[in-house]
Amino acid sequence: MSNQDALAAMLKQYEGNSSSYAKNSSAKEYDLKNYFTTYLSEKQKTATKRIRVLPTSDGTTPFREIHGHKMQVDGEWKTFVCLKHEKGEDCPLCEAHEALRATGKDSDKELAKKYNAKKMYVVKIIDRDNEADGVKFWRFNHDYRKQGIYDKIYGVLTAIKQNITDPKTGRDLMIMIARDQNNRPVVQSISHMDPSPLSEDAEVSAEWLSDSRTWEDVYSVKPYDYLEIIVKGGTPTWDKEAKKFVDKASLTDKESDDLDEELSLGTPNVKPTVTAAAKTTTPVVKVTEPEDEEDENDDLPF
Ligand SMILES: [Zn+2]
Repeated sequence: MSNQDALAAMLKQYEGNSSSYAKNSSAKEYDLKNYFTTYLSEKQKTATKRIRVLPTSDGTTPFREIHGHKMQVDGEWKTFVCLKHEKGEDCPLCEAHEALRATGKDSDKELAKKYNAKKMYVVKIIDRDNEADGVKFWRFNHDYRKQGIYDKIYGVLTAIKQNITDPKTGRDLMIMIARDQNNRPVVQSISHMDPSPLSEDAEVSAEWLSDSRTWEDVYSVKPYDYLEIIVKGGTPTWDKEAKKFVDKASLTDKESDDLDEELSLGTPNVKPTVTAAAKTTTPVVKVTEPEDEEDENDDLPF
């Protein structure tokens, strides 16, 4: 190995170590095939989707509970995995929630709800209309009113008293989707089909069952710095030169004297983020994520 090669290897290692989170967050390839949603296109009023829930390899529940924050970024609703609940780390969104609750003001208490971590489920399924896509992940919210997707599936389970995920004798589920009074797609009902094998083709079945990916392989966990920008109402973007996330708005403004002040608005206990990065004009990696459609219990005022 030449010195040049060794140097390149070390530089690469250093960059890898210092931006492992960034890689996870921004360089991740999002393949839409990996996601199942109950989204409807603008023209669609209703839809029926047929799925098969896959069993876990150890017989535990296929509905993995995770906590996430629903936040609007650049006008779009996005879900962010909660660092506190899922990683046992500091989470800027939870910190904002706690700080607002701590002021004792009713208006802050109301605002705090916006930052609350919400329980969600992630389940691996086969989309019968798109079997060629292979195993997909479906994420949906827990509904404390007991009218959500999980409640509807629970209704099926108690009705048939059978393991719907059994590869030989399990059941497909039919999901009826329609628009509510606000024109948003909601899951209206979930019913079960007759028992059927996961696949008639043993090879295909084995392939689906051996999929070892977890939710973390398809939903990124954003680092603290990234979420901190979200809390402040910014749009995080990866600054290659500074090797960290910065607010998109800061990159278009070289005269950024006002920036610190602007970005320090927000919750009192979050650390300052923007320093030298604000001065660079390096093109940035666009952080994209699959569109996060809202289901019935999102952004309701309670
Ligand atoms: Zn959190």
